[in-house]
Amino acid sequence: MSSSQRCRLAGVLCVVRIAAMQIRSIVIPLLKWFSENSRDLPWRKTIDPYAIWVSEIMLQQTQVKTVIPYWERWMKQFPNIISLANAQEEDIIKLWEGLGYYSRVRNMHKAARNIVTKHNERFPCDLEHVLPLPGVGRYTGGAICSIAYNQPEPIVDGNVIRVLTRLLGIEESSKSKSVIDFLWSVADDLVKHAISLQKPMQRNASSFNQAMMELGALVCIPKNPLCNHCPLKERCIARKEKKVEMIPVVPKRASLTKRRFVGFVICWRNKMFVSRRPNSVVNAGFWEFPNWEVATKVEAVTIAEANLSLSQAELKPLCVINHSITRYRNRLEIFLIKASRKPHLANLSGKWLSESEVKELPLTSAHRKVLNKLIF
Ligand code: SF4
Repeated sequence: MSSSQRCRLAGVLCVVRIAAMQIRSIVIPLLKWFSENSRDLPWRKTIDPYAIWVSEIMLQQTQVKTVIPYWERWMKQFPNIISLANAQEEDIIKLWEGLGYYSRVRNMHKAARNIVTKHNERFPCDLEHVLPLPGVGRYTGGAICSIAYNQPEPIVDGNVIRVLTRLLGIEESSKSKSVIDFLWSVADDLVKHAISLQKPMQRNASSFNQAMMELGALVCIPKNPLCNHCPLKERCIARKEKKVEMIPVVPKRASLTKRRFVGFVICWRNKMFVSRRPNSVVNAGFWEFPNWEVATKVEAVTIAEANLSLSQAELKPLCVINHSITRYRNRLEIFLIKASRKPHLANLSGKWLSESEVKELPLTSAHRKVLNKLIF
C-alpha cells in the first residue's frame, strides 16, 4: 500500500471510528431480533465447550445444513474429549468424510489428546488456554469462549465482516489488515457493551456474537440482503447511502488453476487396488484409486504403461469427475482395467480389497464418486 493510500485509509477509518461508537445502539435491537428469530440448531441446545468446539470447526468453510447430520453423528460416536482422544485416526477420518478440509479433523484429534494430557481432560475455559490448541484461531477461540462460557470475547468471521462493513459504510477492501483489525476492535467493543447490559438469566456475550453471525446468514446476506426485514436498517450507513451491493469491497479472486489427473480402477478376481495417501500430503490418510497428475496432452495409456505395465487393450474409460479444491479445478479421468492375471504393481504400495471393504474405507469425495459409478 502506498503512503497516499495509507493516509486515505487512516482518514476513512477515523470517520468510521466515530460511526463505530454510535453503533453500540445496535446491541439491544439485535439481541431482541435474535431471541425471536434464531434458528433451532442442535449445537445451540448445549453450552458444552466440546460440543460447541466441534460445531465451530465443522462450520469452517461449510454450510450449516451440511454440518447438522455430521455433528449429530459425531456427537453420538465421540460424545466427549476422552472418546475423541482415544479414537483411531482412521475412524475419525471416516466420520469426517465428505466435509473436506481434512486438516481440521486431524487438528481436533491432536487438540483432544493435548487437552487430556495437559488440561486434565477438561476443555480449557479461557482464551489464553483455548488459543494454543491445534486448529483454533482467533475466531474459533472467541466463539468457544463467548458461546460456551459467555465471556465477552469478540468474533469476526465472513458474516460479521459483511454486517459491520455495511453498517459502518466501509468502502475500503474488507481483506486489508487495517480494516480487519478495526473490525475486531469494533466487535470487541460491542460484545463488551452487550455484557454490560446483561440482566440476570441472560447470556449476552453468547447471544450477541451469535446474533451478528445469524443476521449475516439470514438477513444481511451477500446478494440482495433483506434490508426491509433488518432490525438494524435505521442505523445502517450502506443502506442510507444506497451502497449495499458495493459493500463489503472484496478484491478480485485469483483465477482458478486447472489440473488434470488420470486414474485407474484395477480389478482382479473381484478385488480392486487402492492406496492410502501418505501423511505428508493433502488428504493424508484417505484411500484412493491409483492416479497421476499429467499434462493436458498425455494419453492415459502412456501413464498405464509407465506405471502399471499395462497395455492399451486393457483400458476402458469409466468416468470423469470434475471437482474443485481451494483455487484448483481438478479433472479426474478414470479408466477401468479388468485384469485376467494379477498385475505387477511393483512401484505402488496399497491393498487388494473387495468392493465392500473399499466402501468402508475413508475415501476422498472424488474417489467415493468413482466407487459409486462402479456400484450403481
Ligand atoms: S440494513 Fe441491509 S445492509 Fe444494512 S445491516 Fe441490515 S441487511 Fe445489512
